[in-house]
Amino acid sequence: MFLLYADASGTADQQDHSKHYVLLGLCVPEGHWFALNRLLQSLKTRYCQPGQDFELHAAEFCVSINEQTEIPDFDQLSRTDRRAKVQALRQQRIDAEKNSKKKKARIDKYRRTEQFIHLTRLERSRLLEDALDLVGANDRIRLFGEAIHKAHPAVASGQVDPVHQAFEQVTSRFDAYLQMIDHWKLKKSPRRKIDNGLIVLDKDYSTEAAIQDQFKRYRQHGHPWGQMRHVIDVPMFASSDLVCGLQLVDACAYAVRRYLDTQAVVGSHEERNFLRIFHRFDQDGQGNLHGLRHYVATGTCACLACQRRGHAPTRQVSMTPLGP
Ligand SMILES: [Zn+2]
Repeated sequence: MFLLYADASGTADQQDHSKHYVLLGLCVPEGHWFALNRLLQSLKTRYCQPGQDFELHAAEFCVSINEQTEIPDFDQLSRTDRRAKVQALRQQRIDAEKNSKKKKARIDKYRRTEQFIHLTRLERSRLLEDALDLVGANDRIRLFGEAIHKAHPAVASGQVDPVHQAFEQVTSRFDAYLQMIDHWKLKKSPRRKIDNGLIVLDKDYSTEAAIQDQFKRYRQHGHPWGQMRHVIDVPMFASSDLVCGLQLVDACAYAVRRYLDTQAVVGSHEERNFLRIFHRFDQDGQGNLHGLRHYVATGTCACLACQRRGHAPTRQVSMTPLGP
């Protein structure tokens, strides 16, 4: 059995700040679950205060925490003192609000980053890098992803629904990967053990009902590229605070979206983070990339995924002769 943990970064909403909707799936053999869990717990231990835990959720720790910049020598304080000082400053601001509605809005806003206020900006940056390196260094992991540019004419006009298309792409590629493993095993022995796949999605994934319907249709009629052969049951929806694979795929989806949202600048911090996991996307022995597609208007993007898939614009080669 192979598990595919899937989570999205960005939203399908044309009005919000994200330029892409990215759905990523992190695939591991079920027997690897314990090792993965151990690795994630060990990573968290380095960043948690003793006796505490947090859910790895990149959108909550890869942000500016303004109170930290207002506390003198914040970086030099112990983690306990940092937490106490940020909490005190926040409490002052909650108390200063004039009505209960505003107080509640402030409490809700603070709650999002509460688990990470003892970590400096640099430490939070390293936390993301370490989570990505954990995936990058693990050769039992394979990634599958679809990144949809919301300004693509087909998306902007409503012809393509990003959530539907992303789920279709990730699911069918996962199924094709299991099919490929089966072909490989079949060559060795017709009495091979067939591997099945199970999809686990974050229960906060807002489109649960639509996804369940879409999956049922695949089960009955196949997906646009054929029959679903190996992915079994219906997608499971689980709480990401309890499932290590969902927390790791959250970090990976965030890194992919940030890389593309910031226009895939060569040498950028976002590119370096993307490169920590790029080699984990499914590819064949010839280096053809199957596991990641950037759905963007043809010839308009030169990101590493578009380059590998041959969709990047052709570079102008200068024909000026050298020398005098
Ligand atoms: Zn691209």
